[in-house]
Amino acid sequence: MTTVSLAGREHAVANIFCIGRNYAAHASELGNAVETDEPLVFLKPTSSLLREPDPVRLPVWSDDIHHECELVLLVGRDARDLAPAEAMSAIAGYGIGLDLTARDVQAAMKAKGQPWTKSKGFPGASCVSAFVPAGQVAAERFTFSLQVNGETRQHGDTALMLFPLPVIVSYLSTQYGLTAGDLIYTGTPEGVARIAAGDRLVLTLDGVVSAGFGVI
Ligand code: MG
Repeated sequence: MTTVSLAGREHAVANIFCIGRNYAAHASELGNAVETDEPLVFLKPTSSLLREPDPVRLPVWSDDIHHECELVLLVGRDARDLAPAEAMSAIAGYGIGLDLTARDVQAAMKAKGQPWTKSKGFPGASCVSAFVPAGQVAAERFTFSLQVNGETRQHGDTALMLFPLPVIVSYLSTQYGLTAGDLIYTGTPEGVARIAAGDRLVLTLDGVVSAGFGVI
């Protein structure tokens, strides 16, 4: 069973939802249009989850694994049809993670009109920190960052999200239904780039939690 840590206790993971193109500057850097009608949602297998202290093992079939640093939500209860104003009540914890993406493979899948699963679902493709209980997190706006080998590569500010957190949670609850233990990767800001063996990645959700991952 795949689990995450919330305040030192293990919780089983249900679904892994991910939001794509939720920051305009990131959509632009990959040449994609921004989504305006509804959030772009994709799923990852739970077998892709990776936690400290395990290292990221680069797959042999890609030469271009990109980091995508993202705020991650842990869903605390089953929920359907939540209005945005009440949606965050379903969130049990906040964490920081990486939606690792084989960009070369993703480009090929996109060109063929096929799902992105192969590019984003490999073992270790969903790195995640421990989660901090929502009750201990006062902020409604978050900033976060990714450092690679001590150099800041990405900086995120949830105020720049195209679809804010309550809208994302409301949308998922209505379109798919939320299950206790779901993770929601909320999208990456600009600055995505290739990682290489030997890199050290440090993710920080400011004032909340951080995590570090090596790459082999
Ligand atoms: Mg992403």
